[in-house]
Amino acid sequence: MTTRKYFTTDRMGCGAIPALALLFPVAIALMVAGCSKSSGGATASSGFSDCGVDIHQHLNTAPNTAAYLDYAKTLVGLMDQVGIQKSIIMPPPSSSDSSAGAHYAYTEIIPAANSQSGRLAISGGGGILNSMIHASYLAGGAPTAAELNTFEQAAQAIADNGVAGFGEMAVLHLSYRPSHPFIYIPADHPMYLRLADVAARNNLPVDIHLELMSAAGPTPDYFRSASPNNPAILEENQSGFERLLSHNRAAKIVWVHVGWDNTGYMTAQKVRDMVSRHSNLYLALKMLDSPGPIQFNENRPLDNSGALRSEWASLIADYPDRFLLGADEFVGSQSENAAGAPSTSGTWSILSRLPSDTARKLACENPAKIYRLN
Ligand SMILES: [Zn+2]
Repeated sequence: MTTRKYFTTDRMGCGAIPALALLFPVAIALMVAGCSKSSGGATASSGFSDCGVDIHQHLNTAPNTAAYLDYAKTLVGLMDQVGIQKSIIMPPPSSSDSSAGAHYAYTEIIPAANSQSGRLAISGGGGILNSMIHASYLAGGAPTAAELNTFEQAAQAIADNGVAGFGEMAVLHLSYRPSHPFIYIPADHPMYLRLADVAARNNLPVDIHLELMSAAGPTPDYFRSASPNNPAILEENQSGFERLLSHNRAAKIVWVHVGWDNTGYMTAQKVRDMVSRHSNLYLALKMLDSPGPIQFNENRPLDNSGALRSEWASLIADYPDRFLLGADEFVGSQSENAAGAPSTSGTWSILSRLPSDTARKLACENPAKIYRLN
């Protein structure tokens, strides 16, 4: 491999090694030995502070690199509290309109990731690739061969840069406020199929945000009033998602935010149907610390007393290799209010309700198998 990678330091297990140090392999070896066992913090509660990976976290959109460095520090503080060794951070999915909020490329958060001694990895594509697919979909008609090639090259460049995966991509993303984008792209759009091929070739997963619609239907009332960006009717999207899954079985597709259902279709039975049909489907659980008023709480793995619902317990027991934890919290500076509801403790609290070998799979073993972390 001759491609220069941004994540050289992270791939050695310890970030923030100055570029100059690359000239001194012995020094690097010593630094790696000294920092690869970065602690998850003495107060860590998950029980997996030595190996736990949260595969889906975000930094708030920041005005400059210094602010991203600050946000990364806040995130690592949160990880220490909850007992998480490493988090994968990524840009949220961007619409084709770059003014529509939260639009940044993964390259903007590389310095922040590299400042945290191997505690943060990055997935890329939410800023660059998602806006390309969205623009192509809105333009109508099939993309040309040249457009598909350009897209493929952009995806390959991200892979070559040493990312952990592709993310965050969106098939159906609802808007929570006027400055927050609504995004709908059929999951079997030719560029999504092409992304699956690039992901398979590079053995990288694709993280997909998909509010499930098993049938077309009205947008839930909350979202109609929360933002004018949401349409009145949401299209069916399950069949397109299943076509993406079956397009290339070597492409690992991670359905993120499972357990946080805002449309009412994401039952344990539905998730079971999907995972049983698709060997390349993985599920990243997300649970708000306190269940929100908008979501369908009956489809949340933990009930209101904090107990794991039996249908989710049996689903996880039957498919322990397919589940991950992806809290999807937005983190800013320590003094700043979070941009979204906190979800890291809520998500990681499921581990204490699982048999310890299963919990270890979700926290440590599955992320290491599915993502490119070292
Ligand atoms: Zn997200």
